[in-house]
Amino acid sequence: MKLKCPHCHLQRDPQNAVRTIRKLGKYYRKSDGQYLTRFWCVRCGKSFSAATTSRAKWQKKRHLNKLIRDLLTGEMSQREIARVLKINRKTVVRKFRFATATAKTELANWNKNFGPSTEVEFDDLETFEHTKYKPLSVTLIVEYSTRRILGFEVAQMPPKGRIVHYAKKKYGLRTDHRPLARAKLFQDVQEFVHPYAVIRSDSNPSYPADVKRFFPYARHETVLGGRGAVVGQGELKKLKWDPIFSLNHTFAMLRANINRLIRKTWCTTKKPGELAGHIALYALEHNRRLATTQ
Ligand SMILES: [Zn+2]
Repeated sequence: MKLKCPHCHLQRDPQNAVRTIRKLGKYYRKSDGQYLTRFWCVRCGKSFSAATTSRAKWQKKRHLNKLIRDLLTGEMSQREIARVLKINRKTVVRKFRFATATAKTELANWNKNFGPSTEVEFDDLETFEHTKYKPLSVTLIVEYSTRRILGFEVAQMPPKGRIVHYAKKKYGLRTDHRPLARAKLFQDVQEFVHPYAVIRSDSNPSYPADVKRFFPYARHETVLGGRGAVVGQGELKKLKWDPIFSLNHTFAMLRANINRLIRKTWCTTKKPGELAGHIALYALEHNRRLATTQ
């Protein structure tokens, strides 16, 4: 194990510990019942332990971090987690933010372990923040053969259909951020997609230009979108054969496992950023679960 002083970055030399970094006893951490070794740096005279540089520093319920992550990506609401684990709701919120803060970077790092995908599918999922008058769109891109999530982006979009008039009256004009988000997503996943890949999506008229811009050598196949089933199955289509099944299956899994995306749920997104964090957390967990079952 390479040990470094977090204050002056002096490396510990195991052969010469007395002159580099010495051990300075142990202490008991009550929150998770672990003994930690303290170290003392000879050069700067400061002491430290494994907890000094840990992201979970000062946390009193660090033993719940993993469990809460699992529950958040397994359909459970924050309030329900608090009730079952007998902790405060605000603790769950803090744990949620702690977990989601790094989730998107972790997702990108996870995807770097795989070679570039040769066949991918992407599409938009619709949800909302606080009210149906303020819809949000989630663009997601998956690898066809494994259903691995390569990336996603959340963006606000204007309402459509019969509610347009009322939505405008109540909340004003809602601009469309989807094109920008799609460009950002394509830029982010460029490194995970093979330059000559097959990219499949539905026949949205604004897709081909963006695909051409970021994946100039790829083959873009468009398919006709079908009507989604209303309850339960999420985006799974009422068609005999769905050409973008991998993607719609993933959307259905998002709907089933992220409580705020369940149709007709009581839990709603209050802030788009939190939704993005939650999806990142789920996507990471989703990819990990896929990797262990294959
Ligand atoms: Zn030092």
